[in-house]
Amino acid sequence: MKILITNDDGIYAPGLWAAVEVLEDMGEVVVVAPDREQSGVGASVTLNSPVRSVEVVAPLEGIHTYAVEGTPADSVIVALEALVQNVDLLVSGINSGFNLGEDVLVSGTVGAVLQGYFRGIPSLAVSVGSLHATDFRAATRLLSALAHEVAEGWLPRPVLLNANLPPLAPKEIEGIDMTRLARRRYADTVRQGDDGKRKYYWITRTRPAWDMEKGTDVWSVRHRRVSLTPLQTDMTAATTLAAIEGLPERLQKLFPPVSS
Ligand code: MN
Repeated sequence: MKILITNDDGIYAPGLWAAVEVLEDMGEVVVVAPDREQSGVGASVTLNSPVRSVEVVAPLEGIHTYAVEGTPADSVIVALEALVQNVDLLVSGINSGFNLGEDVLVSGTVGAVLQGYFRGIPSLAVSVGSLHATDFRAATRLLSALAHEVAEGWLPRPVLLNANLPPLAPKEIEGIDMTRLARRRYADTVRQGDDGKRKYYWITRTRPAWDMEKGTDVWSVRHRRVSLTPLQTDMTAATTLAAIEGLPERLQKLFPPVSS
């Protein structure tokens, strides 16, 4: 099995190397990741400048490792299109910090695996809920089990799984749930300041008020459980679509039919 590993915390983040360490027993591991932290860049792709990449010496011996001057999505695109052939599994992480609910839209961790998903490669995003996570034992255990499921061909294709673990030791975790994304009840706020020349606005993430419904990813991690959410890219709002079905009729005067 050929496994491509990336992240958004930067190529030397400890979570990435914890993932490499556990997955190298399962096949050939190649690391292609941003050369610096890129959290919050989402699925962003660099189109207006070249994306530079250099092979670097890996902290673990024998692992081909490429640092990319670009986003997590850039890293995966360059990897899959130019550096690594026949990838069987794409892993992004292990991220330090949750990627829950609507935050998946700005998550670089998730943005990276979308590029695998688009190409039909089984793709896993794995996050531990602490910005200073050092204990990756539960996450690596989960990752290796999920990689086994991919190897067995048990998971459907395409598949993109977003896994989040509470920052706990394996024996403190109370179970694993399949979940849906929770909804947040807040928007980002800004802090205003002045640098002596101009005003600036610092976009600030305050503590979100999550809906805590059972069945959501947030509920599970708050209850010391692992959350697994399958994601898809079709963001069509089916309920809204049905509710405003009559809109074209209301707008028809915009483009009156040409009379013959
Ligand atoms: Mn991150």
